[in-house]
Amino acid sequence: MNKMPVIFVGHGSPMNAIEDNAFSNKWKEIGKNIPEPKAIVVISAHYYTVGTKIVYSDTPKMIYDMYGFPDKLYETEYPAPGSSYYADKIIESVSVKLEKDKEWGIDHGAWSVLVHMFPKSNIPVLELSIDHNMTAEEYLKLGEELRFLREEGVLLLCSGNIVHNLQLLDWNAESGFSWAQEFDSYIKDKIITHNIQDVVHYEKAGASSEKAFYTKEHFVPILYALGAAGTNYEVEVFNEKCVLGSLSMTGYIFK
Ligand code: ZN
Repeated sequence: MNKMPVIFVGHGSPMNAIEDNAFSNKWKEIGKNIPEPKAIVVISAHYYTVGTKIVYSDTPKMIYDMYGFPDKLYETEYPAPGSSYYADKIIESVSVKLEKDKEWGIDHGAWSVLVHMFPKSNIPVLELSIDHNMTAEEYLKLGEELRFLREEGVLLLCSGNIVHNLQLLDWNAESGFSWAQEFDSYIKDKIITHNIQDVVHYEKAGASSEKAFYTKEHFVPILYALGAAGTNYEVEVFNEKCVLGSLSMTGYIFK
């Protein structure tokens, strides 16, 4: 059986969940073009914790972790089953101690994309949290340790944004500020040329890296994806665009 790809998706605004736009259309297309996964392990920027946790529930609940949006967004449902089976497998396989979490479920970093990518919500979904005390190298290593899931037909969906600076957001801007595009291009070039260490040490991008994000949770899902991708990946770049000044929607499929 062919290995499952690894996906990094720039999820952007929660409104993408209910909008039919170029980004969400591409997510739909991806879901149709990859083999149906046995389960989906999501590393979401919105599950940012002390220590690494794993959702341990066969019926994960919806987490509406966004504020001030239209009612329709809070009515979105994604009633996918969970998977304590794969949670146990991951707990046994990785070197990091994982805490079983029966409180968290599926947050908008996951469901805003999944409603488009796998609209039937019939594939088990389990989230793995991002420990905010880990280093870039440690995220990469944990991604490597999750690589075995690909051989088992499990999809790793890493959901964040390469550029994510809410303080500098401009709601009237169609595209990105020049520094946002510069940082997004820096990361893309390093990924395409397999210079993973230059992604780990993203500060090498210079001044643009200082504005790209003030907190790292939306960036680091790409490190998990790169770890799981290994060294000989082929990569497809999708939704390459910066919006609202300081948000990048750029995504990657590693095969
Ligand atoms: Zn987000």
